[in-house]
This record gives sequence, structure tokens and C-alpha cells, in this order.
Amino acid sequence: MPPASPASTPLLEARALDTYYGQRQALYGISLSIAKGETIGLMGRNGMGKTTLVRTFVGLVRPRAGQVLLDGEDITKAPTHFIARRGVAYVPEGRGIFATLSVAENLGIAGTAAAPGPWTLPRVLELFPRLAQRLQHRGDQLSGGEQQMLAIGRALMTNPRLLLLDEATEGLAPLLREEIWRTIRLIRTTGMTTLIIDKTVAAVTAIADRIIILVKGEIVFQGRPDQLKAQPDLMHRHLGV
Ligand code: ATP
Repeated sequence: MPPASPASTPLLEARALDTYYGQRQALYGISLSIAKGETIGLMGRNGMGKTTLVRTFVGLVRPRAGQVLLDGEDITKAPTHFIARRGVAYVPEGRGIFATLSVAENLGIAGTAAAPGPWTLPRVLELFPRLAQRLQHRGDQLSGGEQQMLAIGRALMTNPRLLLLDEATEGLAPLLREEIWRTIRLIRTTGMTTLIIDKTVAAVTAIADRIIILVKGEIVFQGRPDQLKAQPDLMHRHLGV
């Protein structure tokens, strides 16, 4: 096979993914691609398959059919740690930090697996000054917002090529949500490729280059935020706006 052109190869490509939980199908023939530097908003109501899709990207659930390619490399059957090493960082819903380890230890662990790049401990602490003040606190002593910051900071410290954020603002007070959006905007300015799952339609459409909407495991819309806004029926039906 001829070498792919780096400029035209999507950073991530899903080809006709079917994912099941037991006998129950959760994703139906999902095909999409994410270009380098893009910010994607993945939206849809509860239980439509958003988390399943990103879990399929990182190997936490295996598709029964279809492929996932990272920069042209087939990672469909690759172990999760391999996919992480290849630069895909997943911040799960519920955050997934180490509760009994300190902030510094949580970030230190990420640093040991890090690819070289701009995100270092000082840079992450600059992005999240609250974490700098709580370096010795245990994960479970942090507020929900601080835990979320730690989870994002930890993902950044690996200098990922693709950052997957699942419901990063869910359950947070309005001021903290705004702080998380501010950091996501800052991360975007660094050119990092990011996929954001979030139900805050106004915030996602303000930041994303492209929106993808899932309904019952199928893509019903892919396009720019202005193209979505031109379809108020669709927004009403699938996003409750
Ligand atoms: P939410 O916004 O509530 O997180 P979602 O769009 O991320 O929803 P998923 O969590 O991917 O949706 O769920 C898609 C479908 O798969 C749902 O019907 C859900 O009940 C089912 N599902 C999810 N996880 C599992 C699991 N571990 N075992 C069985 N079924 C599951």
C-alpha cells in the first residue's frame, strides 16, 4: 500500500462500526472521520450511543464489525494501553481519577506515560490554578469541578494527539462549568484535536468546528454548527432545543 499523505489522512476514522452489548446492538454502521486540529461536538439525548462510540475508539468495547483507524493505522483490535500510547486520551464521564492518590501523584502518573510535547506539569497548573493550590490533596478530597480539572489535566499531560472528553461539565455548578468551557476553548487554541460529548447545545455549537448527532446508535446529522442551526426541527427533536 502506498504511504498515506499526512495532510489528507484523518487523525481518526471510523468505518461502518457495529458495536453490541451482548445481543443488544448499540451502534449501527457508524462511519466518520476527524481531521487533525478539528474540534468535534458529539451530541444526542441519553442512551443514544455517544459513550459507546468513544469507548469503541479507545478499545474499551470492541466492535463486532467495522474498523477504527488512527492516522491511517488500524487500531480496531489494539489493546487500550497501545491506543493510549499512540496518543488517544479519554476523559470518561465520572472522571476516572485515582481517588486515593494526591493531585501531584495523579498528574505524575500521567507524566510518566507522556509523549513529548507542550503539556508539562507547570503548563497544566497554569491552566488550572486551583490544582496548583491542592497538589497534596487526595483525589477524593477535591470538589467535583476540581476532579474534572484533574482528569483533563492528567489527559493533557500525556500530550495526546486526540483528546476525548465525555460529559466534562455534567453535574457541575454554573461557574465551574464556565471554567471548564474556558479551558476547553484554551486547549482548542493550541490546535489539539478534540471530541467533546456534552449536552450544553449553546456551548458545544459555539466551540465545535463540526457537530455529529447520534440517535439510537446511528448518525442523523454531521455538519457545521451553522448548518445545524439552520435546522431547528432537528435541534428540537434530537437535542431538545
Ligand atoms: P448518556 O448521555 O446517557 O451517557 P450515551 O449517548 O452516551 O448516553 P451510551 O452510554 O453509549 O449512550 O448507551 C447506548 C446504549 O447502550 C443504551 O441503550 C445503553 O443502555 C446501552 N449500554 C451502555 N452501556 C452498556 C453496558 N455496559 N451494558 C449494556 N448496555 C449498555
